[in-house]
Amino acid sequence: MVTVIIGIGTWSLLRESLSLALDAVPANIHPAKVEAYLASLPGIEAVHDLHIWAMSTTEIALTVHLIKPDAVIDDLLLVQINNELRELFGIQHTTVQFERGDTSHPCKQAPAEVV
Ligand SMILES: [Zn+2]
Repeated sequence: MVTVIIGIGTWSLLRESLSLALDAVPANIHPAKVEAYLASLPGIEAVHDLHIWAMSTTEIALTVHLIKPDAVIDDLLLVQINNELRELFGIQHTTVQFERGDTSHPCKQAPAEVV
């Protein structure tokens, strides 16, 4: 009986730990929805190199490259992205790289059709 209770209690922790070890996208986050949200932002033409992973069992991080042809560093947009990723998807730690999408200096992480 005690073994069963301990087993049930540790199963979710074991599963989350395994997910962490495998660098998996947290189960409650759908990368396609996050990508669609980012692509819908004003001035953003394309999204690539999107990574989402759990930093711990309670904290989620994201890195992404956004093609923003006007090339203006927009702190207000970054604040909006940070706030909305937290509110909509529960992602607390974000790192966003803006790129102009200049074809003479293509990003190595971008798919060929984007650059
Ligand atoms: Zn890039």
